[in-house]
Amino acid sequence: MTHNRTVSDENPVCSSRGCRAEAKWMLLWRNPRIHGAERVKRWAACEEHLPVLRDFLTARGFPCETRRVE
Ligand SMILES: [Zn+2]
Repeated sequence: MTHNRTVSDENPVCSSRGCRAEAKWMLLWRNPRIHGAERVKRWAACEEHLPVLRDFLTARGFPCETRRVE
């Protein structure tokens, strides 16, 4: 049996430092000062760290969007 090589989105791990939890959410964000509108960064987040990561971004005025990981 062969394994398909899957990238990031299949089993995302939380982006919070030191956290190894499976991510349930994906944060899409950008820094408007250095990124154009098409340059969207992606952070994965577990249930616990979603508000932490989102607060980090919104406190800096970065536009961000939350998507549920299917
Ligand atoms: Zn986490």
